[in-house]
Amino acid sequence: MPKRMSRRDFVKLAGRAGVTISVGGLGSLGCAPRQPIVPALRGTDGVAERAIREFAAGLHGTLIRPSAPGYESARRIWNARFDRRPGLIVRCADSADVQRTVDFVRAENVLVSVRGAGHSFAGHSVCDDGLVIDLSGMKALRVDRNQKIVHAEPGLVSRELDVATQAPGLALVLGGCGSVGIGGFTLGGGEGALSGKFGLSCDNLISADVVLADGRLVTASAAQNQDLFWALRGGGGNFGVVTSFRFRAHPITEVVAGRLVYDLSKAPAVMRGYRDFARSAPDEITCGFTFADVQHAPALILNLVYVGDAASAAPILHTVRSFAKPKADTIAPVPYHQFHLASPGPPPGFPSTVRGAFLSDLPEDLIEAVTSLAAEVPPAAEFEMNHLHGAVSRVPFSASAFPLRQPGFDCFAIAGWPAPGLQDAAASWVQRLFEALRPHASGVYINVLNDEEGERVRAAYGPQYARLATLKRKYDPANLFRLNPNILPAR
Ligand SMILES: Cc1cc2nc3c(=O)[nH]c(=O)nc-3n(C[C@H](O)[C@H](O)[C@H](O)COP(=O)(O)OP(=O)(O)OC[C@H]3O[C@@H](n4cnc5c(N)ncnc54)[C@H](O)[C@@H]3O)c2cc1C
Repeated sequence: MPKRMSRRDFVKLAGRAGVTISVGGLGSLGCAPRQPIVPALRGTDGVAERAIREFAAGLHGTLIRPSAPGYESARRIWNARFDRRPGLIVRCADSADVQRTVDFVRAENVLVSVRGAGHSFAGHSVCDDGLVIDLSGMKALRVDRNQKIVHAEPGLVSRELDVATQAPGLALVLGGCGSVGIGGFTLGGGEGALSGKFGLSCDNLISADVVLADGRLVTASAAQNQDLFWALRGGGGNFGVVTSFRFRAHPITEVVAGRLVYDLSKAPAVMRGYRDFARSAPDEITCGFTFADVQHAPALILNLVYVGDAASAAPILHTVRSFAKPKADTIAPVPYHQFHLASPGPPPGFPSTVRGAFLSDLPEDLIEAVTSLAAEVPPAAEFEMNHLHGAVSRVPFSASAFPLRQPGFDCFAIAGWPAPGLQDAAASWVQRLFEALRPHASGVYINVLNDEEGERVRAAYGPQYARLATLKRKYDPANLFRLNPNILPAR
């Protein structure tokens, strides 16, 4: 996933040209077409002031209104393309606040979005005029070292979980960018550097406490509300608001990890070599390719993590290093936290667009097309191909809602524009890469969908959609939670 969109490039360009942010409208969000039109929530025009006051009086957390000092920062999300102005932001303190807020939006028929750390590429975590359930203040965390279980509230981000779990020598499956929220990440699937060995974040979920659309707080696990537990693991935020996660953690202190950086001319050889190696790659290895500008030249970066010691990694590394000669090679034994916390991730606050596809193979014409498009990579853009295999692919298709269980590559192109004049070039590069992927795609990861994907949302869930729609009817028949890759309740 994105690891290096250069903050310096963004800041430099933004400073030169001044940043103007485009405004996305809810019309483009793929909202359910048959849903009632929700009233705007602008002060007293929509919901009566008295109802808002009564609601606010019972909250343990904070109600942030457009006139409040913290409103401007509270409404911002990672992707500044979504410059939306909610009528109310409820910074919840606990599950009771979430229940109270869900009851309020249901009773007042108010549009609601759910925000963890605000890293939705599609801007789903903020809405115009409606109400944002902001979970970013809910950060309780308990690491049970003996049981190897982590209890985490939904406001936590990857970096905080890394720090807390590494102290006693444990690790969770987390993404490569420290600021990504645990909520959207896990509910969409959640792939990270340990996925080959331990699966997705959702595969390590033991249970979740969920506030349903009717306001009830329930637990979903293999023993309780099993159908909800199935749906939460890959069905995104469609089924309720998760107020607490319990994860299985793994003992890890050191890994063999780093990156191989290649001139773009070597990309075809590396991709072919990796494609052939991938068919029998051991679970211990998790790799991803990033095509990006490195020191003003397009380059291919092979990010590699091996969960094991240097001796057992040696033959694997020998094979990987034989694909082509890199211009830089940082792969070495390293404390896991040092490796995983090294990447600050791309900077927030700039508009960007993304398009993705899942590929079960890397055919020759794709390798050529990707290499030639990578030669034109804009300064604040990258193309990623992350290998999913091993423990991810051994989970039976029917065991969870996550649909991409065959081995393959989760691919996406992302580009930002720090100045409006750069938007067209960035969006066109993303689109051309997508067109190259499209003929070979056999799905798409819901967490890399953008806000204009229409029918692709349904296709992204693949054969899981029918069961998800039936469960949506059971748990959220009015589609209260619709600002997400939305599943329409079955008729
Ligand atoms: C810089 C960057 C790096 C990324 N790296 C990775 C990566 O390495 N691996 C990977 O798999 N993905 C990665 N992603 C994608 C990421 O998993 C999704 O964008 C995810 O939705 C982010 O979660 P969030 O809670 O921060 O987002 P938010 O924008 O806060 O939430 C997104 C949506 O998730 C739902 N949601 C969030 N929390 C809850 C909750 N507690 N209960 C119910 N619904 C909830 C809501 O529908 C919400 O609209 C990355 C994204 C970015 C921007």
